[in-house]
Amino acid sequence: MDVRKILAEDPVLPQAAAAQEVVWINRGRMPFGVAAKQIPFGKAEVADAAARLKRFAPLLRALFPETGDGVIESPLTAIPAMGKRLGCERLLLKRDSDLAVAGSVKARGGIYEVLKHSETLALEAGLLTGIDDDYTRLATPDARAFFARRKVQVGSTGNLGVSIGMMSAALGYQAIVHMSADAKQWKKDYLRAHGVTVIEYAGDYGKAVEQGRAESDADPMSYFVDDENSKDLFFGYAVAAERLAAQLAAANISVNAEHPLFVYIPCGVGGAPGGIAFGLKLLYGDNVHVFFAEPIQAPCMLLGLATGLQNGICVQDVGLTGLTHADGLAVGRPSGFVGRIMAPLLSGEMTVADGRLYDYLRTLRDSEGIFIEPSACAAFQGVAAAVSAPEMADYARQNGLDMARATHIAWATGGKLVPQEQRQVFYHTHLSPENPSL
Ligand SMILES: *Cc1c(COP(=O)(O)O)cnc(C)c1O
Repeated sequence: MDVRKILAEDPVLPQAAAAQEVVWINRGRMPFGVAAKQIPFGKAEVADAAARLKRFAPLLRALFPETGDGVIESPLTAIPAMGKRLGCERLLLKRDSDLAVAGSVKARGGIYEVLKHSETLALEAGLLTGIDDDYTRLATPDARAFFARRKVQVGSTGNLGVSIGMMSAALGYQAIVHMSADAKQWKKDYLRAHGVTVIEYAGDYGKAVEQGRAESDADPMSYFVDDENSKDLFFGYAVAAERLAAQLAAANISVNAEHPLFVYIPCGVGGAPGGIAFGLKLLYGDNVHVFFAEPIQAPCMLLGLATGLQNGICVQDVGLTGLTHADGLAVGRPSGFVGRIMAPLLSGEMTVADGRLYDYLRTLRDSEGIFIEPSACAAFQGVAAAVSAPEMADYARQNGLDMARATHIAWATGGKLVPQEQRQVFYHTHLSPENPSL
């Protein structure tokens, strides 16, 4: 790989490779009507996922009473005090950090994929007679015994493991989570306390995935959740968009050509932000502008998109470490599947130094009394850029957008399960400018 030549593809790339904070505008973005034609799925697949989640609501209510009606959804909260600190009017927080069961955005895709797999198995085995059967039958001793003979496995930096592990274990599966070294100890403890087997690896995320997959593939009774290539995860995440649209409508917030919507989502391998972005584009087309945020040492999706190489490049190829305090975003190689879908849809990306994540964490806590985890705080880098970066002013001008009428949403991707002591540690973490990342 000729790195020098690759980095010349886009003026932002040399800066990103030097671990600087950047704002990258995607020149490959197309009008949604054009982009949609080259994507092999659309509204029907997302509607199918939404309908499946609805069928499972009675079962989720039975297994997790804290979900209330069995629909796992998070509030959309206005955060004007935080907005004021950042210089941004009309700033909202989508609080997936408070999602039931998994406490992160992974509750969307991860739980959906386990449910879809279980539905398929149950229909084949006659545990369900059809999709209009009573899905609470999947919580009976017979069904549990059926699932207990089977395994669900996943490789994870943490939150996906929590989501897959919790849902699988609740149904009775042997749940196995392969975790990388950078996963937090409390997450491992939490999973083990809920009957999930945690296998730890010294290497990075990629290693955990590789070994987990090999182990699962060797076992016909085992199902492996593939974070990099799973369409089911993707569609599960995409359902978020129609839920958000209902919340915006209820709050009398319009999204149209005169009132653009800007959404900032932290990105790891790309599945969660990609699925959400896809769902939003299906609903709002060119009136929604989605930006991803990544750590300066792990901007894998930016690299994949800006070079056009997608999963053919990793952050180590350009001399970055892939190491970051943002454990939910500590991914060196993006999903090629997601990258190819995002290429004509995404507006751009921001990268952020780890130290700034803790600054945002404190500012949100102090101004709004809300805690979210460091990875989730990356979303605020998008908000900060929107109000101050020249690249964003150019973007608004070129797209004819009236930023005075824009609504901004920071997508808070995780936090609820973080223990109190750990929250204190985060709150008091300050990284020096000379040492902005791990
Ligand atoms: C997983 C995760 C993300 C990003 O999701 P990907 O599918 O890996 O891109 C963002 N924030 C948090 C807290 C996460 O756990």
